[in-house]
Amino acid sequence: MIETLESFPRVRLGHLPTPLERCDRLSEALGGPRIWIKRDDCTGLAAGGNKTRKLEYLLGRAVAEGHRTVVTYGAVQSNHARQTAAACARLGLRCELLLTRSVPRSDELYETSGNVLLDGLLGARVRIVDDADEIAGALAEIGPAYEIPPGGSNEIGTLGYVNAAVELAAQAERVPVRFDRIVVAASTAGTTAGLCVGAALAGLDARVEAIAVYEPADRTRARVDELVAATSRLLGVDPPEGGREVHGDWLGPGYGIATDEMAEAVRLLARTEGILLDPVYTGKAAAGLLGLVRSGRLPVDGDVLFWHTGGMPGLFVHPDAFTG
Ligand SMILES: *Cc1c(COP(=O)(O)O)cnc(C)c1O
Repeated sequence: MIETLESFPRVRLGHLPTPLERCDRLSEALGGPRIWIKRDDCTGLAAGGNKTRKLEYLLGRAVAEGHRTVVTYGAVQSNHARQTAAACARLGLRCELLLTRSVPRSDELYETSGNVLLDGLLGARVRIVDDADEIAGALAEIGPAYEIPPGGSNEIGTLGYVNAAVELAAQAERVPVRFDRIVVAASTAGTTAGLCVGAALAGLDARVEAIAVYEPADRTRARVDELVAATSRLLGVDPPEGGREVHGDWLGPGYGIATDEMAEAVRLLARTEGILLDPVYTGKAAAGLLGLVRSGRLPVDGDVLFWHTGGMPGLFVHPDAFTG
């Protein structure tokens, strides 16, 4: 089935494989399982992140179909939008970003710094659209384009994480290490779904512990299940049924809103490993990792992989969460 994966059009954008590292000081600080980290913050494309892998397949298809313009969607501080802008710059495609104020903030820092600053620098056209009419108007103005859904999460983008699981399986065999669990942030769910499908194909029996950071657990679980089914159909394999859990305990008041647990986790990773997380995704996922360890829900003698999905530019629009 890995041969099937290779039959999909793909453009190379990432520095792959990304490093797999042991976090000895973090493991010691937690006194729990051996923690490892998969550095998809180091995919190499304009500050890195998980969207690079999805875009290899999405833009592979766009280029194969002869498109010259790409349009995608996200929050004002979308990492997906920033990565899409960078990938389009690299491929010489016009990039149109339709961004929505989906986080309850409209201060100047939030609307001008971090990812949205980089979008413009990377040559994308940014439009802030707040309702269906504005979106329809913008699409009419843009004209024919290859449309990528929010987060790059359809079955094509998800192939990037099927491939990532195959990549991890090869690295794990080389070390060697057998992962009991993979902890990862989930919003539009393509990352989680791809890892679930890919783990089954590659014979990794690590359970995926997805930490919901966008919508509550039930909605996130439904997105994961739907994408697992659609991606398995695309690959012509049976959808894996178990092997995953979606946790809603670390979302806090909502998407993009800082929590104390997030800030603690961001600080801990920074000070034990010199690794920077982000306030919206990986910080909450790492809060989930800490919470699962502390409540005895991860095997104390096991090997647990934390999948870093990037997002660092988001730190700069949440200075209040990290002062003091
Ligand atoms: C988009 C994103 C995620 C979530 O990935 P999904 O595939 O949308 O679930 C996690 N971390 C970062 C930094 C992201 O930008």
